[in-house]
Amino acid sequence: MSGVRDIFLSHGHLDHVLGLPFLLSHRAMQGSDEPTRVHCPEAAAQSLERFIAAAADLEGRSYDYVLAPLEPGARVEVRPDFTVEAFATEHPVPSLGYHLWRKRRRLAPELEGREPDEIARLRAAGTEVATEIEELLLSYCGDTGPSVFASEPRLFEAAVLMIETTYIGSALRSRGGEYGHLHIEDLVELRSRFENEMIVLHHLSRRHRPADLRRAVDQLLPELAGRVHVWGVEA
Ligand SMILES: [Zn+2]
Repeated sequence: MSGVRDIFLSHGHLDHVLGLPFLLSHRAMQGSDEPTRVHCPEAAAQSLERFIAAAADLEGRSYDYVLAPLEPGARVEVRPDFTVEAFATEHPVPSLGYHLWRKRRRLAPELEGREPDEIARLRAAGTEVATEIEELLLSYCGDTGPSVFASEPRLFEAAVLMIETTYIGSALRSRGGEYGHLHIEDLVELRSRFENEMIVLHHLSRRHRPADLRRAVDQLLPELAGRVHVWGVEA
């Protein structure tokens, strides 16, 4: 992780940000040549700055970083061919999820089916034969309640969807909605809509074991089970 220049934080709860000063400290020790960019929800920026400053004081060193507050819809280029886009999620504090888009060049649709020789001739004559497209490689929701699927339906189309699943079991069915989290039954209700090649379930409550979530997926989502990976369970 400490080789990474761009960090995207979903929200300010400690299970999501507590490791940040440690990461910045590591990067400072490694003498990375460019500042770490810490992207976060706008509303969390000031508190994060104080939090990082307190950690730097404790260590008696300074961290080379810039805070980059983001609004939903903001896009950040992390590499010429990779862009990250922020979107709002449903949580008690301001919270973002992130899409990772990859730019690719592909043959212009009007030239599909033409012979390679002809395309080469057109290109040599200065005709633009390619068009640029963006593919949604990954969508990551930090913590979120179920309304995110209505506000951000592109989640269903990402090649890889990383989505939280905090609760399982009928006793906790109402819990997710109350605390801005998901219950496995929220996914069951939407099961016909997931087009993703892979779905990674993370953020399981400590009251459950990953193996219990795996079993729940196999029982409740048999049609998706082959594409679902439960964080913490070996594939
Ligand atoms: Zn949270």
